[in-house]
Formats: sequence, structure tokens, C-alpha cells
Amino acid sequence: MGGDHRQASSSSRSPETVLPIAAVPIDFEEGVVAPIFSSYNYHIRPLLDTIDRLRLLQVMKEGIQLPTIVVVGDQSSGKSSVLESLAGIHLPRGQGICTRVPLIMRLQNQDTTEPELFLEYSGKTVPVEEDHIADAISLATDEIAGSGKGISNTPLTLVVKKNGVPDLTMVDLPGITRVPVHGQPENIYEQVAEMIMEYIKPEESIILNVLSATVDFSTCESIRMSQQVDRSGQRTLAVVTKADKSPEGLREKVSSNDVNIGLGYVCVRNRVGDESFEEARREEENLFENHALLSKMDKSIVGIPVLAEKLVQVQANIIARCLPKIVMNINEKLSANVMELEKMPKILSSHAEAMTTFMQIIGSAKESLRKILSRGEFDEYPDDKEMHGSARFVEMLNNFYNELHKSVENEQTGDFLMEEIKVLEEAKGIELPNFLSHSAFLCILQRKVDRISSMPTDCVEQTWDYIESVVIAILKRHSEDYPQLKLATTRAAKSLISKMKEQSINRVSEIVQMEKLTDYTCNPDYMSEWGNLLSQQQKFMEDLKSCYGYNSTTIEGWGTIQIEHLRGKSDTILQQAFDLKTRMKAYWKIVLRRLMDTMALLLKFNVHNLVTKEMEKEIFMELLGADGGKSIERILEESPGIAGKRERLKRSIGLLRESKEVVAQITDKIASCGD
Ligand code: GDP
Ligand code: MG
Repeated sequence: MGGDHRQASSSSRSPETVLPIAAVPIDFEEGVVAPIFSSYNYHIRPLLDTIDRLRLLQVMKEGIQLPTIVVVGDQSSGKSSVLESLAGIHLPRGQGICTRVPLIMRLQNQDTTEPELFLEYSGKTVPVEEDHIADAISLATDEIAGSGKGISNTPLTLVVKKNGVPDLTMVDLPGITRVPVHGQPENIYEQVAEMIMEYIKPEESIILNVLSATVDFSTCESIRMSQQVDRSGQRTLAVVTKADKSPEGLREKVSSNDVNIGLGYVCVRNRVGDESFEEARREEENLFENHALLSKMDKSIVGIPVLAEKLVQVQANIIARCLPKIVMNINEKLSANVMELEKMPKILSSHAEAMTTFMQIIGSAKESLRKILSRGEFDEYPDDKEMHGSARFVEMLNNFYNELHKSVENEQTGDFLMEEIKVLEEAKGIELPNFLSHSAFLCILQRKVDRISSMPTDCVEQTWDYIESVVIAILKRHSEDYPQLKLATTRAAKSLISKMKEQSINRVSEIVQMEKLTDYTCNPDYMSEWGNLLSQQQKFMEDLKSCYGYNSTTIEGWGTIQIEHLRGKSDTILQQAFDLKTRMKAYWKIVLRRLMDTMALLLKFNVHNLVTKEMEKEIFMELLGADGGKSIERILEESPGIAGKRERLKRSIGLLRESKEVVAQITDKIASCGD
């Protein structure tokens, strides 16, 4: 498509009307005055029809923007009158806000003596007579937006097929009212403003700003709004109405362009009172021909016929510019939707299919659990630390070990050896004094074990709580599309995990009990550690008895300790107490390591059982046990949300395919014209 000869001819008319290069040739016949809407061009018509068909298909709901001329203007600026003048039909005028829904006006030039009018809404096409147009519109509006005074976003289309109208499609929006009239919602201004914004925001929209010559343009609400979305004004065109009422200074107002209108101004005079359209056009022509001030204005910026021409041209430009993007958007949306539909779960139509899906879900949940809890692979949740099972287990075990150690350090009070001495004294028997009492050792061991006995169970509880959270999250994810299945599997998992948790707690309590009952190890570290510690006994005794009367001494393994309180005790008891303490210190290390090792092995063992066997077994029992799996179809019934989404996607795909078809027809035609 080429033909920028149009630009040359338009710029020769007036600097204000310079337009972007028309991608579609428009053959204006220079010098031919009547008919007023001579701008009809057979090249534009099919393009416009294509866009109108897409609009009727409501592709905008799919997020695809269409080139649109949006009419905005403050109350009583003359919006309806301008549309009336362009369409050559009577529209409801000056009756407060009667436009409560977006009104799409499709004007189509047609060789008929009688105009044909239709309203298209809610999937219907209703023929209307020109005399009853106001009633028909308000009836249709009531049907769309309710009979109150509220507004709605669902458009109503008015098709006008008439001889001599320009081929134009425009959207008329509710007028901007600051103050709600009786019966209107309080936030009517916000609602209308939001709707207008939604229409004028897209780059594909041309803003036709209707301004009354009687007001200061910079105070117009519609100017304020269009400037918000089109600061440079490059897609804003202004129509100045009521030129007859306020001719003074109009020329200056327009040429100074204080409000930044990029596409230029057209000043008009609409029908006044009971004039016919022919009379109104003659009056307008007369006004701009003969009025002392208005006749000085450039002919290329005055009159309804000029406005019609200009709009047709702007429309052709924008359509030509947008078409490739529309094609691209339709294709992108279509393939995205098709892909999404394919990703969605299939509809299960037989027992076998339901069973297969069920097995697949359980299988993949099991695999996820194995990765996260057993193998430490977290590719499925790279950024969710909670789901990095192995690392969290190590963390919990380390915390456990640190807690155990802390409890030992806390014991080191100033009363060095006193606990041992007391226990030894109570364990005295009628026997030789140089045997170390085994029962004294056990007594101290039991006390120590008691002090830490709650820690292993706490750790077990903590790990199971964590395992439960992971298992539930995984099951939920894999059964997301099937609410019944989600409920059943999480129920099964919870009950299984609480059983397994109880078992491990019992197991760990047993292990703690074992440590209390028997002091045994085959680990040679015990003997070497004890030997090292005991070798300091001599120095300890010497310091205690030294004539210097030291208050404290230093022993490796305990650091600096107070010894004053030990003076006066017998050597035997002191030596035995020291021996007892060193044995306990060496042995306690072994106990803690053994606990830690056992806990780690137990944890891995439990997780292994859960993931490889128990989980699956429990879910199968829960879901298939009761009736041999007959109810599996019911359990795998998909959620209404999923069913709804599938329907939406299917509808949207259908619509986009149809749109693609519509666009393909026109692009084919353009291609063959170009050849
Ligand atoms: P809307 O609220 O923006 O739709 O404005 P209308 O089209 O209903 O017009 C408001 C009033 O201004 C009506 O009484 C119209 O007759 C009047 N009006 C509109 N355009 C002109 C014009 O060019 N000249 C004169 N004299 N009156 C006009
Ligand atoms: Mg109106």
C-alpha cells in the first residue's frame, strides 16, 4: 500500500491539516463541492469492515486493541450534535446523560433512498426507524446497563446505512459530569472517567475532542483527560462546535493552539432547533462564507464536510498503521491460548483414564518427594528454600547438636567436683575405699541424660512437622486440578505422618532410655580422652595442697576453676571425684555423638520409608481401599474453576481463529491489489 500523494494535496490546503502519510490512497476530487461526504473510498471500506467485524467479535476483550475514533467532550459541548451532523440522523440531544454505555456508531455509505438503521447488542441485530432512534437506544441501554442511571462498559452498536454518509466508525462515551444527578451513583464521575480513560489510553485510539467555542478550551475536562494519555496531542483531533454562538476570537483561539491539539481543529456549526440537515448545512456554509470574522478562517478547517473528510483520512491512516500489529497480536494470543489449553488437564471420560491420571499424579508426586526429601535435588523449586529438603534436614540436625552442647556448657558452675563428691558419698558401701563406684557413675550419667532427654524428641517433632509441610505442598501441587483428590491425598498424608511421627518419638525415647541404662562404648576415643584428662590429676592435687594456698587452678578441658571449696576434703574422695568427672567427660562426648548419629540415620530411614513405600500405600488404601477404586472418577472430578477456564480458553480460541480468518481475507486482498 502506498500513495502518499494525499499528503501533498492536504498540506497544500492548510498547514493545520498536515497529517501523517496516508498508507491507503484516498482519492479526493479537488474542487467538487457536493455531495458533502465525497470522501468515500473503496480502498478504506473493506479495511474498515474488517475492523468492525473484529469489533463485533469483541476481540478487545482478548486484549487486542483496535484502531478506534473515540468521541469525548464535556456535557453539552455538542457531542451528540456532531455525531448527528456526521450521520445525518436525529439523535437524542441535550437531555443530560442519556449515553450510559459506549455507543459504537458505524456509518456506512450506501446507495439507498431510505436510510437503514440497526442496533446491535447482546448478540442481536434490531432494525430501528429513524423517528424512534432515541427510544430504541434507551431501551437497549436499559437492557445492557439496567433501568437505573448507572453506566456499563458493554457497548451498543448503532449501524447507519445511508446515502452520502462518510464511512466512519466512532465510539461515543457517556459525557463527563462532575455532580451526580438524582439517582446516579455517587461515584459517577470516577466511573465515567475510568471508562473514558480505558478507551482513549491505547495508542490505537484517535481522540476526537468536542469543544464548545463558548468556553475556554483549557478549562475543559475532556482536554485534561486526553492530555493525560496523549501529552503531545499527536492522536487528538478537536472539533469546535457552536462557532455561530461565539465567533469572536475563534480564529485566534484555534491558531494559537494553547491546548496542544496535534491533528488540528475543525470548527463547525451544528443543527439548531428544528432545522433540517440540509438547512443546517446551508446555514453552516453561509456562516463560514459570509460572517465578518468566520469567513476569514481557512476553508480547510471549517465545516462538517471537512470534518468528515478529515476523520475518514485519520481513520484510514490509523487502520493501515495498526493492521500488522493486530495480525501479530491475534497470532500471539492464539498460540498462547492454544498452548495453555494443551497444558490443561484432560477431561477424564472413562474409569481407565481416571485410573491412569490418578497413577500419574501419585507417581509424579512421589518423584518430587524423592527429589526434595531424599536426593536433595531442588530443580523444581530453585528459589523456594523451604523446599530444599536436604539442606533443611542438615540445618535441623546441626541445631540439635548445638543445643546438646550448650546444655553441657551451662552445667559448668563454680562448684567443681561437688556433685561428684556428694554422689560418691551417697554411694558409699561397706567395701574397700579405692574402688570407683559404678553406681555413682550411673547416677551422674542418668542425671545428665535426663537434662537433655526432651531434645531428641523435640528434634524429631520438628523434622516431622517439616516433612509434613513439604509432603502436603507437593501433593497439593500435583492434585491441584482435582479438589476431591487434593482433599483425600492430604488427609491420607496427614494421618500417615502423624502415625510415623508417633513411632519415631517412641523410638527416640527408647534410645534415650538405653543411654540411661547402660554406659558402654567400644570407641577407643573414650580411653584416650580419659587418659589425657586423668594425667592432670597430680597437678590438680598439688595445686590444691600447695603452701601458697591458690584460689584457682587451670585444668585442660575445664579451663580455670575455683578450688578453695575443696580444701579439707580427703585425698581419696578428691581423687575419686576427679576420676569420676574425667570418665564422665570422656564418655559424654561419646553419648552425644552416638545420639546425633542415631538421629541422622533414623531420619533418613524414616524419610526413605515414607517416600518409597508408606505414602503411596496410605493414599491407595484411602482412595481405592473402600470400594476397590470404583469411585475414582468422582474423586478426579475437576474443579469448576478448571472447567470454566477450559471453556473460556476454547471460546477465546474460536474467536481468535475467526478473527484471524477475517484479517487473512483482507490481507490477501491487499496483497493481490499490490501485484
Ligand atoms: P452533548 O451533551 O455534548 O451531547 O451536547 P448536545 O449535542 O446535546 O448539545 C448541547 C446543546 O448545544 C444542544 O442544545 C444543542 O442544540 C446545542 N448545540 C450543539 N452544537 C451547536 C452549534 O454548533 N451551534 C449552536 N447554536 N448550538 C449548538
Ligand atoms: Mg449527548
